[in-house]
Amino acid sequence: MERIKMKTPLVEMDGDEMTRIIWKLIKEKLILPFVDLKTEYYDLGLPERDRTEDSVTTAAALANKKYGVAVKCATITPNRARVEEYNLKEMWKSPNGTIRAVLDGTVFRAPILVDGVTPYIPSWKKPIVIARHAYGDIYKAVDGKAGKGVAELKFTDEKGKEKTLTVFDFKEDGVVLAMHNTVKSIESFARSCFNYALDKKMPLMFSTKDTISKIYDGEFKRIFNEIYENEYKEKFEKAGIEYLYTLIDDAVARIVRGGGGIVWACKNYDGDVMSDMVATAYGSLAMMTSVLVSPDGVYEYEAAHGTVTRHYYKYLKGEETSTNPVATIFAWTGALKKRGELDGLKDLSCFAEKLEKATISTIESGKMTGDLTGLFKKDGVTPVKLSTEGFLDAVAENLKAL
Ligand code: NAP
Ligand code: MG
Repeated sequence: MERIKMKTPLVEMDGDEMTRIIWKLIKEKLILPFVDLKTEYYDLGLPERDRTEDSVTTAAALANKKYGVAVKCATITPNRARVEEYNLKEMWKSPNGTIRAVLDGTVFRAPILVDGVTPYIPSWKKPIVIARHAYGDIYKAVDGKAGKGVAELKFTDEKGKEKTLTVFDFKEDGVVLAMHNTVKSIESFARSCFNYALDKKMPLMFSTKDTISKIYDGEFKRIFNEIYENEYKEKFEKAGIEYLYTLIDDAVARIVRGGGGIVWACKNYDGDVMSDMVATAYGSLAMMTSVLVSPDGVYEYEAAHGTVTRHYYKYLKGEETSTNPVATIFAWTGALKKRGELDGLKDLSCFAEKLEKATISTIESGKMTGDLTGLFKKDGVTPVKLSTEGFLDAVAENLKAL
């Protein structure tokens, strides 16, 4: 059989631990037999990041910017324990943070639904995609303790002119916090969300608390509305999708009542919390994909979970693992599909869709990894737990038959 040809290389970012093992197996068993894979390879595994003093991460992000589409394996974000474990020169920064800073993107998380794994909210028949603004607010805030006295917020402009706001006149001990965001970052966030919704032909909802935070959240609301009216309204109407702005309280109620099938744009903190809620409600973190979309249309696909360390240590001891590779497979299919779309390679996009179908139908036929067996309920189908490799073999068999 002739393998599918590619035009532009995918930027391939390898990673760590169990997901690095899965990465290699996915390529060997599910992609290379069918696709004449063209990638520009960057090893973001922790040893190589340490050896290159993390320059490999920036190089990978710049390649992503140049070629447009990347697929990334989960990577370790080192903490103190990791510095010792890997004998690192430094506690290198989160690769995802570095890539995000280069691409200035928004992260979209979407669950992969299979028949047999019912969400905890059973009316959620379609995916809910969370778009989390990944800059500023409490994640770049300064905070501190206060005692008796006045807390003030002072802004000094370029010319030295000062403006002071009173935060609180403390009569007793307390705490204060000051946070910020930038118009540029909010604009990028808005455009990424509108582009993603158009790409997926899904309605978009954006929520803040602008009734309380009239200026701060009000600015988010204004920017989204302005960009929508000026740049996207016609496109949305043509695509038959809607944009809705609403209060976060109302958004939560709508999400719980609704059947899914919506992109929910959230401010940084809301997105952090809500993405965990949504991921849990849909069943397993291992069934959640993640894509970083930049405002100028650069895409980076990955699984939402980490490197699955506990399973890796079992693997190192020679014990059998049953690690779910589905989100990592979907990172590959997402990237291949997008590459196919951008390069006009129908057969590449078709192949990616087939691989997704083969993966889902493998689970629906009762073959799955251990994280899903306890969740799976389908008449006439008894779930069977397979090993990491056993599951990938079952998907490969299904794929060949499609
Ligand atoms: P994790 O790797 O997502 O794993 C947490 C737990 O969730 C696992 O121990 C496992 O539970 C379950 N799980 C996650 N993915 C699974 C899968 N594919 N199949 C089956 N079970 C799965 O998170 P973590 O343990 O907090 O972090 C481990 C490392 O990953 C850290 O070094 C962190 O820095 C890194 N990380 C990277 C990314 C990224 O690159 N995007 C994201 C998050 C974390 P059981 O052990 O109960 O089976
Ligand atoms: Mg969180």
